[in-house]
Amino acid sequence: MNMQSKEVYEEFRGMVRRLAVDKILPNAAETDATSLPPEKSYAAFREAGMLGLPFPEALGGQDGDLFTQVIAMEELARVCATSALSLMTPWAALDPVVHFGSDELKNLLIPAAARGEIRAGWCLTEPRGGSDLPGMISRAERRGDDWVINGTKRFITNATWAQWYLVLARTGDKDYGIFMVHHEDKGISFGKLEKKMGLRGSPTADVIFDNCVVPASRVVGDPTRGYPNMMLSLSYSRPLIAAQALGIAQGALDEAVKYTKERNQFGQPVARFQMVRGMIADMAVKVESSRALLYRAVEAAMDGKNADNARSLASMAKLLCSDTAMSVATDAVQLHGGYGYLQDYPVERMMRDAKITQIYEGTNQIQRLIIAKHVYQS
Ligand SMILES: Cc1cc2nc3c(=O)[nH]c(=O)nc-3n(C[C@H](O)[C@H](O)[C@H](O)COP(=O)(O)OP(=O)(O)OC[C@H]3O[C@@H](n4cnc5c(N)ncnc54)[C@H](O)[C@@H]3O)c2cc1C
Repeated sequence: MNMQSKEVYEEFRGMVRRLAVDKILPNAAETDATSLPPEKSYAAFREAGMLGLPFPEALGGQDGDLFTQVIAMEELARVCATSALSLMTPWAALDPVVHFGSDELKNLLIPAAARGEIRAGWCLTEPRGGSDLPGMISRAERRGDDWVINGTKRFITNATWAQWYLVLARTGDKDYGIFMVHHEDKGISFGKLEKKMGLRGSPTADVIFDNCVVPASRVVGDPTRGYPNMMLSLSYSRPLIAAQALGIAQGALDEAVKYTKERNQFGQPVARFQMVRGMIADMAVKVESSRALLYRAVEAAMDGKNADNARSLASMAKLLCSDTAMSVATDAVQLHGGYGYLQDYPVERMMRDAKITQIYEGTNQIQRLIIAKHVYQS
């Protein structure tokens, strides 16, 4: 896919930034404090026509390319990482449907998701582990025209808030299938909502399948190729998580610059002290170098000529942007002194939100395995 002109992307960035400041930022502290889903942000995304951003126009979407989506994530996470995740999760969960699903399934789900009538989540991780995905226990067995799913999926974003769940389950010794399950299907249930360090407004819970029967029309693609298909979708969603992390880092840097200019010690703004300036400079270097790598990864993914290289760059971007988010948010708290430790200042939330970006969508150790494999093979 060809990149659009810089002006087109920057105009889009300006639009999302205005939306973020006017409609998303006001919900950030509330969704964190109440641990309730960011309904007001979701309504704002619906009103702005952003829910269908990555989906094909023919299915009611906006055909927004990967760079457009990355810009959206970056600008939204800059003010509220939870709201950004609420937008991104259905995009990622429905990506396999767009690429591998039947026309019937696409027509059922994608236009409704673009209109905001349904939300989706994806169910990969299990209690026994998330890194060793091929070791999963959940199974789907064919019975006549139906499939019967058994298993428990852990840490599922949007659990209880979504109407549709994409499920990866074993269909043979070495085969996996992808299935779409509706929240009212017989045999699906939900565990308790987890109490989390950050992203508190984003619901996270177990999704349990107990002889859950789904019709064969709900299989996404070839029921023996679910694993490789899912890996392709993960390499698409990693730049989005990297963008979420980069947004958190940029937001924390913004707050640190603002605070250090306002806070006086020894008769002058702390921003005048060399050590403070040195920290701000280091934070800015981390943010800009992370952005450069992320945009390089997006270019490689959109260019599409070397999928292995693009996958490795996506892992590099996820690794660097999330490490930057954690380090810059921690330094931003430091530069706020004692006030940084209070919930009154957004950097406290940003530091808690940053941590998950090093863990989910493949931990950073797993990203290193992917990168090293590519480096040795190329
Ligand atoms: C808030 C939140 C939201 C999430 N949302 C979703 C979701 O929507 N859908 C979904 O399916 N999952 C989701 N997850 C799960 C997430 O992707 C997993 O937690 C993550 O992949 C790690 O799996 P694990 O927790 O089982 O850790 P483990 O796999 O048990 O890892 C434990 C530690 O061992 C390390 N490790 C494991 N294997 C290796 C190795 N080979 N080499 C080196 N180190 C290794 C890991 O890096 C980690 O540090 C979410 C998790 C959280 C906390």
